[in-house]
Amino acid sequence: MAKAIVTGAAGFIGSTLAEKLLEQGHEVVGIDAFLPNYCIHQKQDNWDRLRARDGFTGLLGDLVRLDLGQVAAGADVIFHQAALAGVRESWGGNFPAYLHNNVLATQVLLGLAVRHQIKKFVYASSSSVYGKQPTLPLHEGMLPRPYSPYGVTKLAGEHLVRAYHENFGLATVSLRYFTVYGPRQRRDMAVYNFIDAIAHGREVRVYGDGNQTRDFTYVDDVVQANIAAWQALSNAGCGSRPPATANVNGEVLNVGSGTSVTIRELIEAIGRVVGRAPRIATAPAAPGDVSATLANVERTRTMLGWQPVTPLQEGLLAQYRWYQETQR
Ligand code: NAD
Repeated sequence: MAKAIVTGAAGFIGSTLAEKLLEQGHEVVGIDAFLPNYCIHQKQDNWDRLRARDGFTGLLGDLVRLDLGQVAAGADVIFHQAALAGVRESWGGNFPAYLHNNVLATQVLLGLAVRHQIKKFVYASSSSVYGKQPTLPLHEGMLPRPYSPYGVTKLAGEHLVRAYHENFGLATVSLRYFTVYGPRQRRDMAVYNFIDAIAHGREVRVYGDGNQTRDFTYVDDVVQANIAAWQALSNAGCGSRPPATANVNGEVLNVGSGTSVTIRELIEAIGRVVGRAPRIATAPAAPGDVSATLANVERTRTMLGWQPVTPLQEGLLAQYRWYQETQR
């Protein structure tokens, strides 16, 4: 069993990943600054669940400022999930915070990995690096054209990962997640807000006309992709090179469902899960929101032997059940 560092471990994806690694018997060091970008109680719940488990060590603080020398010793991998996420808030005066948490923190962590010989680094990137592209589905060969400051910082992170890979031989994979949903989803995200509005009989607020399409990816599928990327890097490093994982070191890979729905279709689907007809109120489109995302996941399937397995309806039901439990 190995020692893994998970940054952003109080967050939505980081806490789900950390829990899965602990279930598998690994030792996990979780780090989080508890940024107040959404409900702190949610982060505290996630954190408390991890702290209750054997094998977990939690460190609270900013990645840029913490002295991580001691916890880094003997770690096999860093899963870098920490970031200030969200497109709409990344404009204007908020940008320095995005630079700090998404770019500077990533560079500091990469330096730590090299100094302490943590040989594997899995980076949580985002479909937001693609921006507006002339064709769909989005594939890794396209020139990234981020459409928001947030996307710019996530792409900067990818470039830093590549620079450390090429200069210092760090074994890396960057995973571009497409809109992730499921239990513990951030409360600033669409699915959470749509469930909350429909459950309370409120109008669902949609930015734009609701015909924009999104590829929604279930959180457990994203966790599996992270673990598959780590395994693939481990296989490549130990000399046994199964064809499926031979060239993954240094790669950037999409992690999406490979399907998409319009926001209106999503809301209808949530209405069926909640058992109440939704009422939609539209608001002007928000700057930074693209009109369509859809992942081509062929490369990820081939290189990691991974595939998304959770259908939207099933994932929405799981998120709704979690929502009901946490409302009590
Ligand atoms: P989240 O906000 O729930 O979790 C991120 C956590 O990182 C937060 O708890 C925050 O406090 C922590 N953090 C941020 N900066 C930090 C710092 N400097 N030091 C220590 N901790 C810090 O977000 P999430 O939705 O779980 O996203 C996880 C990762 O996945 C992020 O890198 C995000 O950019 C990426 N991503 C998410 C989605 C999605 O749909 N949720 C889509 C694409 C990419």
